[in-house]
Amino acid sequence: MFGRLFGRKGGKNSSGDGLDGQAAIDAVRPALEKVYTPLKRTAFVPVVETGGDPARISKFNGGSALLLAGEDWPCCPDCSTPFSLFVQLELDRVPEPLQGTFGPGVLQLFYCGNYDCPNTDDWEPFDFRKKTLRILPPEASVVMNDNPHTAETKYLIGWEERDDYPAGEENDAPDIRISGRWDQPGTLSIPSIGYEAPLLSSAIKYNVDTTFLPVDGEKMGGWPYWVQGAEYPHCPACGQTMQMVFQIDSEKLIDYMFGDVGVGHIMQCPDHKDSLGFGWACH
Ligand SMILES: [Zn+2]
Ligand SMILES: [Zn+2]
Repeated sequence: MFGRLFGRKGGKNSSGDGLDGQAAIDAVRPALEKVYTPLKRTAFVPVVETGGDPARISKFNGGSALLLAGEDWPCCPDCSTPFSLFVQLELDRVPEPLQGTFGPGVLQLFYCGNYDCPNTDDWEPFDFRKKTLRILPPEASVVMNDNPHTAETKYLIGWEERDDYPAGEENDAPDIRISGRWDQPGTLSIPSIGYEAPLLSSAIKYNVDTTFLPVDGEKMGGWPYWVQGAEYPHCPACGQTMQMVFQIDSEKLIDYMFGDVGVGHIMQCPDHKDSLGFGWACH
């Protein structure tokens, strides 16, 4: 895995450019594994298919949606556009290790997909003008409604496990220090284990910094992929740090781009399952 991620093979030492290739990989791998392995989480990436029975509940990127009896399809109050259905997920169909974590019911995120919408506060986790985010309780009286949009619906058929590591911005992330300018060779040091690596080439420095990362794209569980830095919202009811339920990327499962290739996160209070937020950040 390291050979592929580091992107270079062979043990040559470019003169004056620091330790490079396999020699550098072999030199730093044990130290990086030592500090990252204890932080490893499992992320679950949704496996989807298109087509088939539109009445299936768990889906992404459009399709019919469950609405409360008598409820109209949600529309944006600022531009009158009918919301797009980004996520509809039966919480009893989440991966087995996460069963019960987010509560029973059906999680839904509807969103104003109009790029010309005058509301530009939708990045904010608790701006609920441009989105509807909720969990329909199992006892709710619901009916399946046709979607006014015609996006290609992606139906959930399973989950794929991936190893996931914290971004450098997380409080729990290991303190990895790489000396020197980004385009110059330098040393790698990890103070928590008293480690210092030999001089590394600029290419290897870059790879050291990007080898252990959170998984991007859509996922449940694991570490959030932050674009701007760790931004965990706090529950408006109790002030607790909210936890990630589901990550949504730009133009992967969903035909929508959050700002400039932003990544968003559905967050939830660990105690108040109906206390939800969805915020995103971009480059
Ligand atoms: Zn709008
Ligand atoms: Zn709370």
